[in-house]
Amino acid sequence: MDKRIIPESFDLGVDPVEIIGASRATGMDKTAMLKRGSAFADVLDGIRPERGRTLLHVITTGAMERYGANRNGDAFNEDAMDYTAPEPERGMPATIRLDGGLRKYHDSSYMSKSAAVYQEHHSEEEPSGRIVAARYNGDMHRGELIISVDDEKWGPRLHKKASGQDIYLSMGCRVSHDTCSRCLRQAKVASEHCDHFKRHRGELGDDGVRNFVINDAPHFYDISGVDVPADRIAYVLRKVASEEGAAPTLGEARGMLGFRRGMSTYPAARLLAKLAAMEKRVEGAMAELGCDLGEDHDEEAADLLVRRVGHYPADEVIDCCSRHGVLLTPGMLFRVMANDLEDGAGLEDCDDGCCGDCSGLMRELERSEDVDDCLRDGSFDGRFLPDAMLESIVRDAIPELGMRPADVGRRVVTVTIVAAPRRMRKRAAAMPAPVEEALRRTYARYLVSFAAQNDDATCMQALRKLASMGRR
Ligand SMILES: [Zn+2]
Repeated sequence: MDKRIIPESFDLGVDPVEIIGASRATGMDKTAMLKRGSAFADVLDGIRPERGRTLLHVITTGAMERYGANRNGDAFNEDAMDYTAPEPERGMPATIRLDGGLRKYHDSSYMSKSAAVYQEHHSEEEPSGRIVAARYNGDMHRGELIISVDDEKWGPRLHKKASGQDIYLSMGCRVSHDTCSRCLRQAKVASEHCDHFKRHRGELGDDGVRNFVINDAPHFYDISGVDVPADRIAYVLRKVASEEGAAPTLGEARGMLGFRRGMSTYPAARLLAKLAAMEKRVEGAMAELGCDLGEDHDEEAADLLVRRVGHYPADEVIDCCSRHGVLLTPGMLFRVMANDLEDGAGLEDCDDGCCGDCSGLMRELERSEDVDDCLRDGSFDGRFLPDAMLESIVRDAIPELGMRPADVGRRVVTVTIVAAPRRMRKRAAAMPAPVEEALRRTYARYLVSFAAQNDDATCMQALRKLASMGRR
């Protein structure tokens, strides 16, 4: 089983990534490393800064004994140990012997020849960095790395980091199996996980034991820089544009999407189930009435909003809109995301039809094989302190675009009789399938995060609007 582990998903109490300062005169800057409690203070003297490369100190994983499991329910034990489970599967012993854990596998797997530094886990491409040192830090109960990255390939990330913004890393990790903390079920593939993990991950039992899985023999094989959603879709778009005739398959497009921040899938899965049920009710109501209770989408108000927020980072805009019950339709969302990119990568031309008919999107996501990966992507879940100017721009759009019942009630609801069976909206130029798939995935994940900030009536109205847009 291959896993993607995000250092941020452990509550390490310290930023997992730091640039190691160096100068020709004084060599490596040890002070910052000491402050971080790094295990590498003694090896820094032996590391030479190289032209065109930057060194990063990365805290990779927190040990189960100290930090518990990460937000996604993956735990890494520190040492070989006996582990006793509260509810062993029938006929199975309650205590098992765990393999050597991080102390045995962290350094050895990271220092193996095959482990390298990539972008977005694209191990088919040339590595964009190498692992200089790996060390399990027993005092701090965590794994650490020093990696050396190519200044050119990591330019945008290093620039972000140097200017005080967060950058994200993700580790590729292979395990032959993982073990449920509650019943000791061993799963070789995700589908073999018990319900403790599938449905009740992260929950705390009366016995004080949380539900997670233990990875006692992890093999770490890469550490990658990962990006914001706009960067990822841009990657798919550029790939499609550059390789005419050799467009990536749907599966590849999904793989390229990756994810930024490891989140617990559990609350997101609950929201998805709720939205999927609502979507069905919306469809039923529309079929029964033979008419469309959605309202006309106010394109003018939408365009104005997208233009006015152009200077703000996409994730702040998305958070602010969700907070005020303003739904971004697909065209709006992708144009807002394009603001994060220097060249827009084609996203700036997106319209509301660019990811097809969205009226069944939640059920489609619920049924898909990689639903867990998609829900684990917390990239639309960022919360930001309100910015006065941005707040006022978004508030101005509420009368036309707000989805809260009070806001909708103020508008005249138009009733459209649907004459013909559902037709897909005809577009001038259809998106290539992998791009449309990438956009659909992204939009579906956005809806789940919208639901996290809004009540049921508002979500219902949002789904109604999307369903009626699909019919036109
Ligand atoms: Zn279990």
